[in-house]
Amino acid sequence: MPELSTREASPAPAVQVCIKCGIEKPINQFHKDRQNIGGRSRRCKACAAQHYAENRESAALYRKIYYAENRESEALYYQAHKDKKQAYSKLYHIEHKQDIARRMVKHSHTVAGYVVRLWDSLNRRTVNGSHPRYDAPQCCRYLDRGIRLEMTREDLTAKVEENLAAIQAVWASGESVHCHRIGPSIHYSADNIVFVSESKHHKLHARQRTHNEDE
Ligand SMILES: [Zn+2]
Ligand SMILES: [Zn+2]
Repeated sequence: MPELSTREASPAPAVQVCIKCGIEKPINQFHKDRQNIGGRSRRCKACAAQHYAENRESAALYRKIYYAENRESEALYYQAHKDKKQAYSKLYHIEHKQDIARRMVKHSHTVAGYVVRLWDSLNRRTVNGSHPRYDAPQCCRYLDRGIRLEMTREDLTAKVEENLAAIQAVWASGESVHCHRIGPSIHYSADNIVFVSESKHHKLHARQRTHNEDE
């Protein structure tokens, strides 16, 4: 190809052959370029323009692709980061909740904790209790029958302590402890209550359904 590029050292050749298209063209059809022998670009203006246009197009396309890819990966990065953060916070919440639940269970599974709750519950459902709840249907079942609380808080505490092994066995099984009256028509007294698991309690009442008794 470089056949005519050095057409003798004649100062100003009238024509030049383009290295791109191979066409011999008047010298003014080549851009001035001092770095080249003869002071002209070896590519004709038309070929140079085409090359520039093609290059510009592909450069633009390249930029487009690059930004598109970058934007996507950036979005993916943030999404992944967000997901990770959310996953962490979710995990924290779950663990935190379990921790609270564990602490609550731990507290309620003590004589003091259990007595507090049971004493409150008995005072809600007995006519002589400290705060009988006539507005609560659950309590009215007892209140309507005139069920009384015939023991002190100390009596109840002693009774719970006395039956602690059985109560703890129910807790260990994962069930809740129910306070059941042996004689359905007898009031809440230390001699008339037993502590049973929820499931056993339901069985007891299924057996004595005629008494229309609960808890
Ligand atoms: Zn050309
Ligand atoms: Zn019962």
